[in-house]
Amino acid sequence: MDNFWKISRTPGRLGIDYDETPFFHPRDPINPMNDSHDADESGRPSWPVGGPHWRRRDSCRLCDSEQVEMVAALRPTLLPERYVDSPDDTSASERYPVDLYMCRSCGHVQLLDVIDPSCLWSGYTYHSAQNQSTLDHFEEVAERVVTGFGQSRGMAVDIGSNDGSLLRCFQRRGLTALGIDPAEEIAARAMSAGVETIPQVVSLELAQRIRRDRGPAAVVTAFNVFAHTDDMAEMAASIHALLADDGLFVFEVSYLLDIVEKFLLGTIFHEHLCHHSLIPLEQFLRRHGMEIIDVDRVDVQGGSLVGVAQRSGGPRPIAATVAALREQELKRELNQPAGVRAFGDQLQRLQRSTSELVADWRARGASIAGYGAARSGPTLLAQFDLGGVIECIFDDHFQKVNKFTNGDRIPVVPTDELLRRQPDYVFILAWIHATPIIQKNLEYLRRGGRFVVCCPEVRVIDLEEASRL
Ligand SMILES: [Zn+2]
Repeated sequence: MDNFWKISRTPGRLGIDYDETPFFHPRDPINPMNDSHDADESGRPSWPVGGPHWRRRDSCRLCDSEQVEMVAALRPTLLPERYVDSPDDTSASERYPVDLYMCRSCGHVQLLDVIDPSCLWSGYTYHSAQNQSTLDHFEEVAERVVTGFGQSRGMAVDIGSNDGSLLRCFQRRGLTALGIDPAEEIAARAMSAGVETIPQVVSLELAQRIRRDRGPAAVVTAFNVFAHTDDMAEMAASIHALLADDGLFVFEVSYLLDIVEKFLLGTIFHEHLCHHSLIPLEQFLRRHGMEIIDVDRVDVQGGSLVGVAQRSGGPRPIAATVAALREQELKRELNQPAGVRAFGDQLQRLQRSTSELVADWRARGASIAGYGAARSGPTLLAQFDLGGVIECIFDDHFQKVNKFTNGDRIPVVPTDELLRRQPDYVFILAWIHATPIIQKNLEYLRRGGRFVVCCPEVRVIDLEEASRL
């Protein structure tokens, strides 16, 4: 973390230098994609333009090419998972860009705006207490590695190991387990559950030390972190250093094809620096001495990709799934700017529809609330300009209820307040849980309320509409 600023080629540059900015800059007045942003008289957007905790890369995170092009302009967004005790608390009220860029050289889609990790992760309330479906998914992954690939002995190393849930699946199948996770409190929890965990950020130096002291890893997993680091080269070098010659690297990332096809807007926030797809990842891993030998699309976070890789020239054949998915991406032009621009176009269309609806409701004096203080909430609030519209957010999470969102300072109230307050419209901010939320709150609809879902289309859901879900 200490070298955060040193990585930047333009350290500390907080203002806008149009001359140095390649292609269309999101805040460039001549940028045709800027139509979606509110502009002041000078034609420049009126939202804040930076702060001390972020910098913009000027090269691709995977291949280092400077041929990066913006493919979707989004409105700057507050950091997620910050809740304050008082509406007067203005801490963490800064908004940061989350625009999507594509590398013209390798096709990787990414955020170039990087928040200082010490700022990004401090005060973060998100604890991924693993739910049953996640645990079941981990069991399936471990089973596939151990039985499907015959990797039944040796050491499994999980990068970003959290509470050790994934590693315990490997332990139960006879492998030894080693976690790496810089969150000391969570690492301690994993240790007490019997999973040895090193409370550090993964680095090449650490990987080499582990290999020297304990031998190479039969399995390396990265399920929460392969899209979160700005220094992907260090991450890949670390994985390569850990892997045995016949070892397997298994990763899960939210998948760009799903993001584009299903319009998974809620997956775009500051931690998700990479929006991976197969073609750029294959090139990237190849440069780091690894090859993808199998891929599988899974229904996690709205659509994710599980990839299996080995050291280049390793003992296992490359499954037909890899070529099939590569073909699909090429057909969909997922590695071309045009293939992803549709996402930005759809966002602009939805933004227009939502603002027309909201203007109409407000003109009629309707009350508007939100449901679900989810991690994706700030993204939806910002993109649909709902921060000043929503009167309260219904959520029971113990770290959020009776607090206020940062920046917009919207009160979070318990869900049992919904019927008492009976707002006219309720936007569902916990986007992937829309259907269960609606089904759980039919009484609100019976009393005349309406839920609103913004993605992938704007839908106003009354009782009759809910019966068709
Ligand atoms: Zn690239």
